[in-house]
Amino acid sequence: MIKKLFKSTFKILIIIIFTFDVNFSQQKINFSGVSGPSNKEQKKMKKTESEWKRTLTPEEYYILRQKGTERAFTGEYDKHFEEGVYACAGCGAELFESGTKYNSGCGWPAFYEAMPGTVEETQDNSYGMRRIEITCSKCDGHLGHVFNDGPKPTGIRYCINSISMDFKPEKNKDQK
Ligand code: FE
Repeated sequence: MIKKLFKSTFKILIIIIFTFDVNFSQQKINFSGVSGPSNKEQKKMKKTESEWKRTLTPEEYYILRQKGTERAFTGEYDKHFEEGVYACAGCGAELFESGTKYNSGCGWPAFYEAMPGTVEETQDNSYGMRRIEITCSKCDGHLGHVFNDGPKPTGIRYCINSISMDFKPEKNKDQK
């Protein structure tokens, strides 16, 4: 009788251990399924320098990949106020809506707001200045800088090179 009881207890114990082990293995499998590069990194457009050189014009390459700046008041979109969307000239990601563009007088296209999640900010201490650099979230292309002297409602000024952007007029906006 005691032997039988011991046997059945042992069996139950084995089943419990087995079940736990399976659950644990599944958890490990699930865990490894979500690990690895983050979603954000996976969405990035990665190209080699020679690929960028091939796909961009020399001016675009200088601004987007070498963090250059176009001369003030020379950019195509400085005094451009048509309705539409400004997209990254490197990867095509939409960055700024024409409704947020304003005439700052600084010599480059200025916006008081970027489309959500489209740009990234990095501290830039080059040329003896403390500035915040703006890059495209998708391809890391250099766009310009952001300052705290913009108009309402944000008080922010995104100062962006025209060469970093392509303009898509309103009529083509829905034809993606
Ligand atoms: Fe881009």
